Amino acid sequence: MEAMSEFDAIVVGAGPAGTSAAIKMASSGMNVLLVERADPPGTKNVSGGVLWGGNDLEKIIPGWEKQAPYERVVESKAVGFLTRDSLINIDFRSRRLAEKATGHIVLRARLDQWLARKAREAGAMVISGVTVERVAVQDGVVKGVEQGGDLITSDVVILAEGATPPG
Ligand SMILES: Cc1cc2nc3c(=O)[nH]c(=O)nc-3n(C[C@H](O)[C@H](O)[C@H](O)COP(=O)(O)OP(=O)(O)OC[C@H]3O[C@@H](n4cnc5c(N)ncnc54)[C@H](O)[C@@H]3O)c2cc1C
Repeated sequence: MEAMSEFDAIVVGAGPAGTSAAIKMASSGMNVLLVERADPPGTKNVSGGVLWGGNDLEKIIPGWEKQAPYERVVESKAVGFLTRDSLINIDFRSRRLAEKATGHIVLRARLDQWLARKAREAGAMVISGVTVERVAVQDGVVKGVEQGGDLITSDVVILAEGATPPG
């Protein structure tokens, strides 16, 4: 008889995509492991950025705006047209941008830690400071992930490690 997997799903990477997947699955009662190479989560990512809209995050964490750590809402937008030797900028500032909260400026080190905490609260196990080395595949079937010679088993592995290769 085949041994039971340790987890229903393993998620690699605790960025916005990975934590969202972990929160959704853990909330539905699945036994989820979320593995992040940075300790704490967010400290190996681009330092900050704009969280646009937030409607998708609302589906994952209802009422997120009242709890999430963000620095301020976006109050201006600029579009630049570059030529070989010139730049034309169109700068748009409006109180309406802030009132409608079309974007939130976030620091990833703060936001990702908060998201990871939400994943824990939803019931996921979160391990940070561990880089997944490879997906374990036997006979063409995913069996889990490997790190430091250890195999952590799961029939489902979600790779949410972002666009930048680990380093
Ligand atoms: C310079 C730059 C600026 C950007 N600015 C914005 C912006 O302002 N607004 C916006 O919406 N988007 C921006 N983006 C796009 C942004 O990267 C994505 O929106 C967002 O980060 C995607 O989230 P993600 O969870 O898919 O990946 P990521 O945020 O990249 O998260 C992946 C996570 O996986 C971890 N990881 C990777 N490999 C492993 C491994 N082997 N084992 C364990 N953990 C691992 C990483 O440490 C990381 O925490 C920007 C991108 C770049 C490069």
